[in-house]
Amino acid sequence: MSMQQNCLFCKIAAGQIPAQILYQDDDVLAFADIHPQAPQHILIIPRQHMAASMADLTAADAPILAKIFTTAQHLAHERGIDEKGYRFVTNVGKYSGQSVFHLHFHLLGGAPLGLFGTPTNQ
Ligand code: AMP
Ligand code: ZN
Repeated sequence: MSMQQNCLFCKIAAGQIPAQILYQDDDVLAFADIHPQAPQHILIIPRQHMAASMADLTAADAPILAKIFTTAQHLAHERGIDEKGYRFVTNVGKYSGQSVFHLHFHLLGGAPLGLFGTPTNQ
């Protein structure tokens, strides 16, 4: 379960693909999204390939999820987006537009964010 072949985020976690890493420890990694959707757009992932998306999580995963959420809090503060507010979201499956199947959360901020969840015609 530690590293899945051909997983982009496993490769970033292993240092095999470069990324602008903003925080890392033994459990979690945070890096800049390569196609930012807001002035600040950070991805936070578990280092281990523990789930393709939140749909695979169970209550036993609570400790790593708590760590991911507190990492988001710290980064939001460090990068100065906590006072005005931010969004922390995760995509699941086709209709969400999920494109990388290694659990990850998007931290978005730095400007007023549009209404999310608006259906498209695609
Ligand atoms: P999702 O659509 O929720 O699966 O999110 C995947 C995110 O990964 C997208 O926002 C992409 O812009 C981002 N992404 C893809 N490749 C890279 C990369 N090499 N480095 C950083 N972010 C990436
Ligand atoms: Zn992976």
